[in-house]
Amino acid sequence: MALIVQKFGGSSVADAERVMNVARIVTETYKQGNDVAVVVSAQGDTTDDLIEKAKEINPDASKREMDMLLTSGEQISIALLAMAIEKLGCPVISLLGWQAGFQTNSAYGSARIEKIKTERMLSELDKKRIVIVAGFQGLNKADDLTTLGRGGSDTSAVAIAAALHADRCQIFTDVTGVFTADPRKVKNARKLSDITYDEMLELATLGAQVLNNRSVEMAKKYGVELEVLSSLERESGTIVREVAKMEKMLIRGVTKDTNVARISVVGMKDVPGNAFKMFSKLAAKKINIDVILQSIGRDGTKDISFTCSEDNSKQAVALLEEMFSQEGAVVNCNNSIAKVSIVGAGMQTHSGAAAKMFGALYEAGININMISTSEITISVIIDREYADQAVSAVHKAFFD
Ligand code: ADP
Ligand code: ASP
Ligand code: MG
Repeated sequence: MALIVQKFGGSSVADAERVMNVARIVTETYKQGNDVAVVVSAQGDTTDDLIEKAKEINPDASKREMDMLLTSGEQISIALLAMAIEKLGCPVISLLGWQAGFQTNSAYGSARIEKIKTERMLSELDKKRIVIVAGFQGLNKADDLTTLGRGGSDTSAVAIAAALHADRCQIFTDVTGVFTADPRKVKNARKLSDITYDEMLELATLGAQVLNNRSVEMAKKYGVELEVLSSLERESGTIVREVAKMEKMLIRGVTKDTNVARISVVGMKDVPGNAFKMFSKLAAKKINIDVILQSIGRDGTKDISFTCSEDNSKQAVALLEEMFSQEGAVVNCNNSIAKVSIVGAGMQTHSGAAAKMFGALYEAGININMISTSEITISVIIDREYADQAVSAVHKAFFD
């Protein structure tokens, strides 16, 4: 007998038929003699729809009220799945995040899990009940509901697996595993049998939405092995773990992120301390900076460009204008760019990945605006309209 955590994303519980399908997977696991804790997301596009509903009433609604609203999506899913499991004749109980003991900090909209009080879940499992937990949510010290950020149900599942020392953590989704590129966009994308935490973390951070990056970070920290697989097709998925069998692959995947903006401060004084001033102000506002480029100074001035998420770009521009307009610098923002990246630990020991990537983009006639690299990634900033084309071209160069 084992303790198994299973997570089902929004598409896996999108309608009544899919909820029954999930109930069958869960009860099958239970009937094999396992303890089962299940995490579910809101059905289909529910979270997006709720966000739209809020915008109709108040586009600047407080984050607290947004979380109050968004947590309702997962409440619907847990109740419906529990009902489906009741129908199949197995003992079950649904729990909201706080009932399952999820305590978070107060960062509404992107809360961090601080602790899981496992007593309730353990006592329900002890009673031989299947436990269904609402993903993506918790409770802060003020007893207010919080959410963990988009895609946060993956993190809920990994957190439960870590807290309960589960034997397995299965992430069920609408594709059969982690692929070398988004299988919905790239025809010849290949399924990976396994991938390391570090590679998966980069892929997730750089745009592959199949796993939330914080869930991968947490899985690595607590040594939770993840299995990504389909709730609709019964075939083996992808294992995410510390050491992966290195198939002969220079890179493991190609991905894109379109939530990117490029901000330039043009003509700032070329004096020591300006970059420091600029980036510490942005950091204080929790605006994450990615690729940075500084021009060679001329006539006592210089330009600094950087990328950040498009969501943060408005705030960043306002902040920088306040700081630099007095000295005559101009702040520009370009919201029509994308970041295309390749990821793979194989790059550490083999040269030529960058040349191959840039060659593929050149042949596709796609111009590179900025480049950044780390040990296991190479990213380029390009025009957003070519993002899909760039991913396909680069994927073809490495995998066809
Ligand atoms: P869920 O609702 O189960 O959380 P998501 O929509 O968050 O599912 O993530 C699954 C989607 O991730 C897939 O439908 C696929 O289009 C997309 N995706 C992007 N990159 C990849 C990749 N490299 N491998 C697999 N899926 C990917
Ligand atoms: N329902 C939430 C979202 O759409 C959480 C999740 O799906 O993981 O982001
Ligand atoms: Mg998801």
